Amino acid sequence: MTQRVYLDWNATTPLRPEARDAVMAALDVYGNPSSVHGEGRRARRILQDARAAIAASLGAEPETVVFTSGATEANVLALTPGLHRTGTPPVERLVVSAIEHASVLSGGRFTKACVETAPVDRSGVIDLGQLDRLLVDRPPALVSVMLANNETGVIQPIADVAELVRARNGVLHVDAVPAFGKIDIDFKGLQIDLLSISAHKIGGPKGIGALLVAEELRGLEPAVTGGGQEKNRRAGTENLPGIAGFGAAAKIAATNRERFFGHSDVLRRRLEAGLKQIVRSTIIFAEDVPRLPNTTLFTAPGLHAETAVIGFDLEGIAVSSGSACSSGKVQPSHVLEAMQVGAALARGGIRISLGWETTENDIDRALEAWRKLAGTLVRKNDETVLERF
Ligand code: PMP
Repeated sequence: MTQRVYLDWNATTPLRPEARDAVMAALDVYGNPSSVHGEGRRARRILQDARAAIAASLGAEPETVVFTSGATEANVLALTPGLHRTGTPPVERLVVSAIEHASVLSGGRFTKACVETAPVDRSGVIDLGQLDRLLVDRPPALVSVMLANNETGVIQPIADVAELVRARNGVLHVDAVPAFGKIDIDFKGLQIDLLSISAHKIGGPKGIGALLVAEELRGLEPAVTGGGQEKNRRAGTENLPGIAGFGAAAKIAATNRERFFGHSDVLRRRLEAGLKQIVRSTIIFAEDVPRLPNTTLFTAPGLHAETAVIGFDLEGIAVSSGSACSSGKVQPSHVLEAMQVGAALARGGIRISLGWETTENDIDRALEAWRKLAGTLVRKNDETVLERF
C-alpha cells in the first residue's frame, strides 16, 4: 500500500519527537507543582522551564503565560467583561472579526447582546475603517482579531489593529493559534493584551494551550475556579506532561521558524502553480494578500468541498474543506461568506495546509490525485463563477 499524504496541518500536527520525549519524561515526575517539598519542586521546575520557553518564543515574560486545556479554553478565558488596562475604564462590549474561530465567535463570557462583528474585505483582511466605526464614541470594547486565519492563512494587520484599539481605550485579544510557529510574534512589542496559543498546532500534544496576559491588564476572572493555580487565573492541578511537551515543541518551533517559512513557501508555490495548470479557472482565495506560507484555500467552478475531500481521501491524501459539517448538514465556510465570495464558492473551498514533514513528492501526489478528481468534480467551460468573483 502506498503511504498516505497528510496535508491538513492547520487542523493538527504530528507530535515532534522532542515533545514526545518531554511528555514521557514528565509522566514520571509525579510531584504536584504546588507542593513545597522536593518532589513538588522538581515538577515545578518542569512547569517553569516550559513557561519560559513558550514566553521566549513570543517575546513575552514568563509570568504572562497562563496554561489552559487548549486554545478554546484560552479564548473563553480571554473574553471576559470588565477587563481594563491600568487607568482605562472596564470594557462592556465585545467586538470580534467575522472570520474568528467558533470559540471566539461564541462570545466567551459576554452575553450575545453585547457582541458585535467587524467585517473583513473581499481578501479576508479586517476592515480597519469599519472596526474604528464600531469603537469610536462608544463604551470601551474588548476587540478580538486573529493574527492569521486558519482557513485562508491571511495575516491580519495586527499592529494597526492594536494601535486603533488603544486609541479607543479598548483591550485587544489575539487568537494566534494558526500563526504561532510560522511567523514572528512579538507580544510585548505589538502591545497585545491577551494572546491565545495551542500546542497541537506546533508539534505538541493535544489538550494543552495557553493564554498570555499582559502585565498591566486588570479584571481577568478565572473561567475555571477552585485552587489558586496559575496565579488564580486557572484552577486545577497543571497538566505537567502536556505542558512539558508544549514547552519542547515551542523551543523547536522557534528554532526552525524561518526554515519552515522558506520550506513551505517553496512547496506552496509548486502546489498553487500545479492547481492552476490542472484547472485553468482555479480560484486561490486571498492570493494577493500576505498569507501564512503553508496554507492554500482554493476552489473551482462547480466544486463541492465535501465530495472533493472524500475523493482526495480515497486517493490517500488528507485535506480539509473550508466549510464545517454540523449535525449532518454541510455549512458554507463562515470565512468565505464574510469575504462575500457568493454562496456557491463558499461551499467549495478546499484547504491544503503544509507542515515541516511535507515533501515535494507529497505535493506531486496531491496534484496527481487532483488531476484525476477534477475531471469529474469541476464544471467544464464555465467561467461565469470566476467572472462574478
Ligand atoms: N483558534 C483557532 C484559530 C483554531 O484553529 C483552533 C483549533 N482548531 C482553536 C482556536 C482551538 O484550539 P484547541 O484545539 O487547542 O482548543
